[in-house]
Amino acid sequence: MATNRTFTMIKPDAVANNHIGPILAKINEAQFRIVALKYTQLSRETIGQFYAVHKERSFYGELVDYMSSGPIVAVILEKDNAVADFRKLIGATDPAKAEPGTIRALFAKSIAANAIHGSDSDENAKIEGNFFFSMLERF
Ligand code: UDP
Ligand code: MG
Repeated sequence: MATNRTFTMIKPDAVANNHIGPILAKINEAQFRIVALKYTQLSRETIGQFYAVHKERSFYGELVDYMSSGPIVAVILEKDNAVADFRKLIGATDPAKAEPGTIRALFAKSIAANAIHGSDSDENAKIEGNFFFSMLERF
């Protein structure tokens, strides 16, 4: 069954470049509600587990190094059609191919350091949100 939640991370490049505020403002303008938010830095081992689905891909080692290189902001968001609408808001993985005005077009440096994560399905949104947050019962 479709849910109305998605999961995002503001990635180390965007945090280091002071883009947390502007990115959260874009998310807010797009009518997403923040359900949970955490500023944290993860070890290689922990972020490696998060991205285990990409283990066989050529960029996995680079991705794990990069995502553990500095603080990130992990967020659970709520909105109708959250997963698809959020993927649209962030734009293509490669910022050079992202639609103008999308978060990656505005803030991403490269295909690896691409400013923001967005879940690709309702199922993964739930798994990824649960990876970072517990005790969300009262929401
Ligand atoms: N990535 C990369 N090189 C690539 C493809 C992806 O470094 O050729 C990184 C990038 O940070 C991306 C993440 O791996 O956001 C996960 O890849 P995915 O294909 O799931 O892209 P996304 O869903 O983030 O658009
Ligand atoms: Mg993905």
